[in-house]
Amino acid sequence: MKVEKVPVLPLRDVVVYPNMVVPLFVGRDKSIKSLEDAMNENNKTILLVTQKSPEVDDPNESQVYHVGCLASILQLLKLPDGTMKVLVEGLSRANIFDITDDESSLVANYEVIDKKKTMSSTHEDALSRALEDTFSQYVKMNKKIPPEVLSSIAGIEDLSKLSDSIAAHMTMSLKEKQDVLEITDTKKRVEYLMKTMNSELDVLQVEKKIRGRVKQQMEKSQREYYLNEQMKAIQKELGEIGDEPNDFDAIQKRIDSAGLSKEAKEKITSEFNKFKMMSPMSAEATVVRNYIDTVLSLPWRDQSEVNSDITHAQKILDQDHHGLFKVKERILEYLAVNKRVQKLKGPILCLVGPPGVGKTSLGMSIARSTNRKFIKMSLGGVRDEAEIRGHRKTYIGSMPGKVIQNLSKVKTKNPLFLLDEIDKMAMDFRGDPSSALLEVLDPEQNFAFNDHYLEVDFDLSDVMFIATANSTESIPAPLLDRMEIIRLPGYTEDEKVDIAKKYLLQKQFKQNGLKTKELTISIPAIRDIIRYYTREAGVRGLDRCISKICRKIIKSLTLGKTNSKMLKINPLNLNDFLGVRQHSYGSIDKKDMIGQVNGLAWTSTGGELLRIECALMSGKGKITQTGKLGDVMQESIKAAITVVRTRSASLGIDSDFYQNKDIHIHVPEGATPKDGPSAGISMALAVASSLSGIAVKSDVAMTGEITLRGQVLEIGGLKEKLLAALRGGIKEVIIPKDNEKDLVEIPDNVKRGLKIHPVKFVDEVFAIALKSKPAKSKNLSKKTSLQNKKTKSSSSKRLPH
Ligand code: ADP
Repeated sequence: MKVEKVPVLPLRDVVVYPNMVVPLFVGRDKSIKSLEDAMNENNKTILLVTQKSPEVDDPNESQVYHVGCLASILQLLKLPDGTMKVLVEGLSRANIFDITDDESSLVANYEVIDKKKTMSSTHEDALSRALEDTFSQYVKMNKKIPPEVLSSIAGIEDLSKLSDSIAAHMTMSLKEKQDVLEITDTKKRVEYLMKTMNSELDVLQVEKKIRGRVKQQMEKSQREYYLNEQMKAIQKELGEIGDEPNDFDAIQKRIDSAGLSKEAKEKITSEFNKFKMMSPMSAEATVVRNYIDTVLSLPWRDQSEVNSDITHAQKILDQDHHGLFKVKERILEYLAVNKRVQKLKGPILCLVGPPGVGKTSLGMSIARSTNRKFIKMSLGGVRDEAEIRGHRKTYIGSMPGKVIQNLSKVKTKNPLFLLDEIDKMAMDFRGDPSSALLEVLDPEQNFAFNDHYLEVDFDLSDVMFIATANSTESIPAPLLDRMEIIRLPGYTEDEKVDIAKKYLLQKQFKQNGLKTKELTISIPAIRDIIRYYTREAGVRGLDRCISKICRKIIKSLTLGKTNSKMLKINPLNLNDFLGVRQHSYGSIDKKDMIGQVNGLAWTSTGGELLRIECALMSGKGKITQTGKLGDVMQESIKAAITVVRTRSASLGIDSDFYQNKDIHIHVPEGATPKDGPSAGISMALAVASSLSGIAVKSDVAMTGEITLRGQVLEIGGLKEKLLAALRGGIKEVIIPKDNEKDLVEIPDNVKRGLKIHPVKFVDEVFAIALKSKPAKSKNLSKKTSLQNKKTKSSSSKRLPH
């Protein structure tokens, strides 16, 4: 081992390998001195060592690495500023033992590290090929290395030299470069380089992939942006759209000022951002734009100032409606509670009654008295859940449901919402609208009503809901459960006269522009209109007739056909205005008939007299029922016949009638469907009368369900039925004993006009309604056949046998 002394040139940021030719710029005094020493005394040889830290200006022994490269100076050039440019060529690796600093330069004791041949030449070949391959890949991926490098290393055969040249070109940290210099074993050095290059290749590959993806995205969005801008420019040129940014600004302002809920604001902002990216003419943009407009047009914050003064409300209700004391009282209680609790938490009011009794107009009055806006939403025929709750906006032409649509129309969040005809709502395969309504009406849920179109919750808790229905029977039970029913049973004749006098006349005069001096309609004329031109529980028909008279008067006044200043309508000239009478009053048959009974029915339009006819024919016990009778009514006929059979002895009829008689029961008018159990006792009476041959009193009407034991059960709609009986000229009415309690609600003039018999058993019905008492004859079968003959002859005028 030969240790020699040599001047040292410390390098700040480069590692020089053997066989490398490198230009260096030298400026430090000690370094210049080392160079000069090397030129003069040391055969142009110098030791290049790398500093551990490039910032150090005057490094001592511990601040440089202890493996360096012995180099020969090829060229030395003094630059005008006193620095030097030197071209060196690395010769071999060298171990440094010590470095002495003689204040003017650094001198080291070193020893050259010999190259040892450790591998076979085949092994070396294989390694050098592998190294070259990896390096060529590395160069391809790494943009910082010029591709010419590949050709420059192609000719190098010596593996150690090759590895050094490659290491010189690689992008590595200074420490890594120094590590390469310090690995003296060629095989290990090659492995180190290959490992570094491979891991670098991995990183480069991932980087390339990411760069590729980013580039693609950039290109796509840039292209879209460019095309959009171009399209906008073209549209602007054609004058189709205004300056888009202003429109955006306007929408943004509306979003900020609409008072949206947090959820709605987030949703609409994201939709708006999407919208900004879209071409304004695209179909999708129209959908999004409509959505934004719909959401922004909803009353998120605006509300009318509610007047909760109960006396004021009472005044308005009395102003608009005659009578209806109980109904008004209940409404005022409801308003009073709302005022106390400051929230609409109670059950929803549901006004139930026949058409024209003032349900809708009561709703309007409540709205007026509480200073809420009024919305009427008709539910008749609604059979699709989407009509209440809307369609998802993914569907073409989708819209929000009726609730939201109406709210955006009234523009306040606390209107009075009248759900009209809630009992007419249907259900089919498109879903059940009543389940959607449940959510609307439930005060525990409706603060977050979810419309499919809106997708965000809307608070309905400030809306006052009121429902109306003709009858409660067809309202789904869960809905009914959430509502408080207030019944408006229909008006008596006197009440109708009062309503006409005090309200309808004034209203029609005003609507038609008539002055009170120009026309009077006498009370008897009003009564005649009610009796002969209308048949209704409410007053809508009456209202229409008055309006018709007013129109005719106006027309003749305008045409100058009447000279008189003051026209008077009385029963005599009524048909000049309304034409011939439409209905008969007191229309019952005056003659008592066998097998013909006056039943009382209750339809959604009020009460009605229902004639029931029964006829007997000799046959085999067949029972025929006609007149479009529903299942329940047909069953009650069967029950009625059984009841009569069990009483055949007391009624004096042939107990074998079910074997030798055909019974036909008919209920005119045949085309109107009829159903319900309340005609039970009428059926039994009709059958009993036919079989016993005893006529039924024509001025008696009845209602009541029948059991097989002959008990008479409770029925509904008593007031309407009694009103119909009175209207039809009936004198006596048989009602179930259980309905006696309802008589309190019946106006006194009705009770005065009718003799009411509450009964428990059907036998009482027979006793009251049959013209004579059935004789309990011993020769039953003979008597019955005789009576049958009589029946045929007496009823043959009316009933076909
Ligand atoms: P409904 O909704 O029950 O079918 P409406 O509310 O449409 O009936 O009433 C029909 C008309 O009858 C309205 O013009 C209403 O003002 C009038 N009306 C009904 N009942 C009364 C009443 N008690 N007093 C005054 N007007 C009434």
